[in-house]
Amino acid sequence: MDFNYTEEQEMIRQAARDYAQRELIKDVLERDETAAYPTKHIKNLSELGFMGIMVDPKYDGGGMDTISYTLAIEEISKIDSSVGVIISVNNSLVCWGVEEYGTEEHKEKYLRPMARGDKIGAFLLSEPEAGSDATSQRTTAIPDGDFYILNGTKNWITSGGTASIFLVIAQTHPELGHKGINVFILENDAPGVSIGKHEDKMGMRSSDTHSVMFTDVKVPKENRIGEDGFGFKFAMETLNGGRIGIAAQALGIAGGAFDRSVQYSRERKTFGTEIANHQAIAFKLSDMAVRIENSRLLVHKAAWLKDQGRNFSTASAMAKQYAADAAMWITTEAVQIHGGYGYVKEYHVERLMREAKLTQIYEGTSEIQKIIISRSILKD
Ligand SMILES: Cc1cc2nc3c(=O)[nH]c(=O)nc-3n(C[C@H](O)[C@H](O)[C@H](O)COP(=O)(O)OP(=O)(O)OC[C@H]3O[C@@H](n4cnc5c(N)ncnc54)[C@H](O)[C@@H]3O)c2cc1C
Repeated sequence: MDFNYTEEQEMIRQAARDYAQRELIKDVLERDETAAYPTKHIKNLSELGFMGIMVDPKYDGGGMDTISYTLAIEEISKIDSSVGVIISVNNSLVCWGVEEYGTEEHKEKYLRPMARGDKIGAFLLSEPEAGSDATSQRTTAIPDGDFYILNGTKNWITSGGTASIFLVIAQTHPELGHKGINVFILENDAPGVSIGKHEDKMGMRSSDTHSVMFTDVKVPKENRIGEDGFGFKFAMETLNGGRIGIAAQALGIAGGAFDRSVQYSRERKTFGTEIANHQAIAFKLSDMAVRIENSRLLVHKAAWLKDQGRNFSTASAMAKQYAADAAMWITTEAVQIHGGYGYVKEYHVERLMREAKLTQIYEGTSEIQKIIISRSILKD
C-alpha cells in the first residue's frame, strides 16, 4: 500500500490549488450573491486542461487518472464548488460516458471539443417525477425512420443553460420498463429544444441549473449510445463515477470550512484566550479532522478501484454518502465555531454550509446511497 501521491497527481493538485486560491477566491462571494455563471474561470480552467482531465490525450484530454481528478475537484471546491460541479459533470458524467461507450464518430465530434472545454456537456436524467426513481422516465424517444423523436421535460440540469452537448436519457419501449430506456447525444440548438428558467438555488448559486424541454426533437439514430435499451445501465454506470467527483467536492467543501475554522479559532479570543484553547472548540476541530481524513480515504479508495478496472459501485456510494454527510456536519460546526461571524457572508462558512447541503442531494441522495450500499451487503 502506498499513500504517496505521484508526481503527476501532486502537480495537478498544486495547479488546482493555485488557481482556486489566487483566482476563484477573488469573486466567489460576488458570484454567490449574483448567481452569475463563472464564464471567465471556466475558460481559464479549460486552457489549463481541467475540463477533460481524465480523457485520453488522443481526444485532447489530459490522460490523468481518477485520483488526480479527485484532487483537482477537492482543491477547487475548497474555494468554489459551483466551479467544481461544472468541471465534475463535464468530466465524469459526460466525457467519461462518451469515451467509455460512444463510437469513434461520437468521440471525434463530441468528446474532443468537450475535453478541450470548447463545448460544455450536460447530463439529462432527472425529470419532474423521476429523481431518485430514475426508472420512471416520462421523456419518450420514439423511432421514426432514421431518427428518434424526443418529447418530454428534464429537471435540475447542471449547465443546462450553457452546455451545448446534452446526454439525454429517454424511454423508447415503456413495456420493457428500465430495459426500454435509451441514451442519446443531442446538440442544444436542435429544433424543438427549449431551456427553462435559471433555478434560484440555496447554494452553488453560480453553477447554472435549468429544466430542458423537448417538443418533437429529431435525434439521428447514430446519436444513440450503445445497443437499444442500454440507456439505464449507461446512466447507472456513469453515475457510479460521477459520485466519486461529488464525494471529492464534498471533501473540498469540508476542507475549506475546516481551514477557516482552524485559522479563526487561533485568532478569536474569549475569556482572555484564543477559542482554540477551549476544549469544546479544540474537540470540534479534532472531530472535523477525523471526518475529513475518513472522507479522503473513501474517495481515494473508490478512485483507485476505478483506475484498476475493478468494481467500484459500492465504494463510490460509500464515499459519496460519507463525504456528503461529513461535509454537512463539518460546515455546520464551522458556522458554530465562528459564532455570529459565521452567520454572515464575509466569512464564507455559511456559504460552504449551503453548498454542502447539495452534495447530500444530487447524483443520488444520501438515502439512495444507503440503498446501494445495503443491497451490496445483502445480495448474497
Ligand atoms: C442543483 C441541482 C443540480 C442537479 N443536477 C442534475 C443534473 O445535471 N442532471 C440530472 O439528471 N439531475 C440533476 N439533479 C437532480 C438530482 O439528482 C435529484 O434532485 C436527486 O436525484 C433527487 O431526486 P428528487 O429531487 O426527485 O427527490 P425525490 O426522489 O423525490 O426524493 C425525495 C426524498 O425522498 C427520499 N427517497 C426517495 N426514494 C427513497 C427510497 N426508496 N428510500 C428512502 N428514501 C427515499 C430521497 O432521499 C429524498 O430525501 C440536480 C439536482 C439539483 C438540486
